[in-house]
Amino acid sequence: MSTPTRIIDQDEHGIRPEKISTNARKVIERLHQAGHLAYIVGGSIRDLVLGHDPKDFDVATSATPEEVAEVFRNARLIGRRFRLAHVRFGREVIEVATFRGSGEGGEDEHRELEAGRLVRDNVWGSEEEDARRRDFTINALMYDPETATIRDHVGGYQDLVDRYLRLIGDPVTRYREDPVRLLRAVRFMVKLDLKLEPETAGPVVTMAPLLHDIPPARLFDEILKLFLGGRAWPTYQALVKNNLWEPLFPGLFDDPSEPPVLVEQAMKNTDDRIAQGKPVTPGFLFAAFLWAKVETRAEDLVAEGMAPVEALAAAGEEAIVAQARRVAIHRRFSTIAKEIWCMQPRFRKRRGKRALKLMSERRFRAAYDFLLLRALENPDLQELADFWTTIQEVDPDERHKMVSPDGRGKRRRPRKRKVVN
Ligand code: ATP
Ligand code: MG
Repeated sequence: MSTPTRIIDQDEHGIRPEKISTNARKVIERLHQAGHLAYIVGGSIRDLVLGHDPKDFDVATSATPEEVAEVFRNARLIGRRFRLAHVRFGREVIEVATFRGSGEGGEDEHRELEAGRLVRDNVWGSEEEDARRRDFTINALMYDPETATIRDHVGGYQDLVDRYLRLIGDPVTRYREDPVRLLRAVRFMVKLDLKLEPETAGPVVTMAPLLHDIPPARLFDEILKLFLGGRAWPTYQALVKNNLWEPLFPGLFDDPSEPPVLVEQAMKNTDDRIAQGKPVTPGFLFAAFLWAKVETRAEDLVAEGMAPVEALAAAGEEAIVAQARRVAIHRRFSTIAKEIWCMQPRFRKRRGKRALKLMSERRFRAAYDFLLLRALENPDLQELADFWTTIQEVDPDERHKMVSPDGRGKRRRPRKRKVVN
């Protein structure tokens, strides 16, 4: 089934030209001069129609990657599964992809399917074919900066107006081709507040197990987009509802529809921090997701005679290795998670230099935030959490009193140097 092409002009779509990246425009102009077709495509046009600021601009063109490289000295060819060119302007990178064809009529060395799954997609095609090989109709709009018009080959503009998220083509085939589209469906639905069109929604729950075939590294990239997009908690709930949580993070909670309070609050805090423009690390979220499992295992190891910090380190490593079979966790984030876990027993030591030293460690703040979350589940920890809240708020003199042997500072040795604050 093919939809007639619609050209939507500025009066209707209302995108102000100055909202379009100057560099993306430059790329298109130069490609035009070299005789190629070129449009701004994908998420940026969708976001602009919805009134959001896009985070980056992608270009689709009739030029092959080699031809793009001939036009731009600053182009770099990347990718194997999906070859394209990156054109860099200082900190901004414009992704320039060649129009892909449908690949109908079989596969060859440029386009390859494994059990219906698309493992390579480098067959060039026409503008219309390129629109149709994209995932959702709202992601297939093409914008021509020279005429300020949107070219819509798949009915995506009307879907945006109606706020529908609809897969292009037959949903079962499209999910099988690339099961990551299951996750993308949930992500766009939640992030952009769209309705999943019924045929697009239909197969999600039953096809969810296909995520098992996706390489862990690709899932990691997708997880970051899912949980650091500012709507982690509603995204989590939608994933669980659609059977998509378990294939990613198997066996972490008894009932994923009611995750531990600590996990729920960690996601809500992440969303709040993003809303306030504060930095967030996926390391903290991973620490929260795996905590119940790590804590239980560490308790067993302590019962066998291991020291608490070592037990957490060992249990943490085990949990991370097991998890990495599904979703690769970059070392720098798993390290943060381990540091957060291993600091937990150290909060119990409130006296002496050790307590002050803890405060100066670089992971203190994250580990303290984690302690506050643990106190939500375990009221016995509240008094301890309050101690660490107060000690951060008081002046240095008071701080030294708090960590002195009786907590009142009587036996404090005189300090040599005056602490100026
Ligand atoms: P975001 O705002 O998250 O960047 P996006 O729509 O730009 O959203 P990208 O992953 O940057 O998403 O992809 C750019 C475009 O490439 C998409 O808009 C879509 O047209 C196409 N695309 C991306 N991933 C797929 C996929 N798995 N299958 C088909 N088309 C895809
Ligand atoms: Mg994008």
